[in-house]
Amino acid sequence: MKEIFLLKLGEIVLKGANKRQFENKLRQNVRRRMKKYGNFDVYILQSTVYVEPLDDQADVDGAWEACRSIFGVVSLCRCRPCEKSLDAIFDAIENYLGDDLDCAKSFKVESKRSDKTFPLTSIQLSQEIGGRLAEAHPGVEVDVHHPEYTVYVEVRDLSAYVHGPAEPGAGGLPIGVGGRAMVLLSGGIDSPVAAYMMAKRGVEVEAVHFFSYPYTSQLAKDKVLELARLVTKYSGRMTVNIVSFTEIQEAIRDHCPEEFFTLIMRRFMMEIAQRIARCDGCGALITGENLGQVASQTMEAMTVTGAVVDMPIFMPLVGMDKKDIIAIAREIGTLDTSILPYEDCCTVFTPKHPKTKPTLGQVVNAEKNLDREALIARALESVEKVKVAYHDEPLL
Ligand code: ATP
Ligand code: MG
Repeated sequence: MKEIFLLKLGEIVLKGANKRQFENKLRQNVRRRMKKYGNFDVYILQSTVYVEPLDDQADVDGAWEACRSIFGVVSLCRCRPCEKSLDAIFDAIENYLGDDLDCAKSFKVESKRSDKTFPLTSIQLSQEIGGRLAEAHPGVEVDVHHPEYTVYVEVRDLSAYVHGPAEPGAGGLPIGVGGRAMVLLSGGIDSPVAAYMMAKRGVEVEAVHFFSYPYTSQLAKDKVLELARLVTKYSGRMTVNIVSFTEIQEAIRDHCPEEFFTLIMRRFMMEIAQRIARCDGCGALITGENLGQVASQTMEAMTVTGAVVDMPIFMPLVGMDKKDIIAIAREIGTLDTSILPYEDCCTVFTPKHPKTKPTLGQVVNAEKNLDREALIARALESVEKVKVAYHDEPLL
């Protein structure tokens, strides 16, 4: 007998007039994610997404795993649909949840009746089914206050559904309702977490990575592509724009005072990222910056690097402690890749004594021997666009 998933919508239920648009986006996202796992029907009724396998070939476990990382879902459960009658509901629970029930010391039944034509109230339904279950499982006590196991019965428009406890969903908002932004993705711990956090707020994410061959290796580039791939588990597919940064870094090394190297380099990154972002329909940039973490992440340094762009720069980690960022990286599965020891272009030509409290005037002056426009134009010509998706082969 078949099993279906019910995904409960989170904050999006609250969004009044936009609710329709939010729901459509979520349904689209779920449909796209389910494709890989076979034939599924995906529909929304009564603020719930139904995910229903249409034949026996569907990979139900794979689909369930995927549903757990879809933003916009606050909780989800696997359930058994059945006819809207007491006998059918009782039989479905016995077949589908009977073993789980037997493993518990105590239980209760919780019912919800959104089909108001059903003849029993929720309380009556819980009492009736609870009574029958207690008789069928004499070793398991009824405890309505602190049950070890709860059986849920939902009487909805199409059918009744029975299930055990729901699991927490990925939360957040459906990807796409928050616009599109470009993350500056390094090989570090922070920027993949930043991308994940903005994706969680419904932002469709594209990425840009600066690499400095031969100062940084092919492995370093693969590491970044692998990080992007890992983030797509949550964000959906993304394009990574790989920008060759060698000429710019060498020009900075040869023509600028050392204490400003990192700041000037970061201004180039921001400006190039914004230009690519504009072409790709992005309305904001995302970085993994964190106040006070390194010399280039003081308020003054951020003012100087932010001055070259006029798009908003989202820094979702700016006020977080490193240990909390690491905890998220671990949870979303990017940490192990981030800590692989391949160098990043930021670590090439690092000044011994970086300027921590620069003024814009000082930095503009320090850049004056560079032909910024020509350097940026050539970097933009070098852009290689790589599409990544979670189901691609891992690169590392
Ligand atoms: P991360 O862990 O994300 O690398 P970080 O703490 O090492 O961050 P920085 O190296 O100062 O900090 O970089 C700050 C931000 O600049 C990064 O979070 C990222 O958004 C961006 N960035 C740094 N290096 C690169 C790069 N090579 N390509 C693209 N973006 C980069
Ligand atoms: Mg870094």
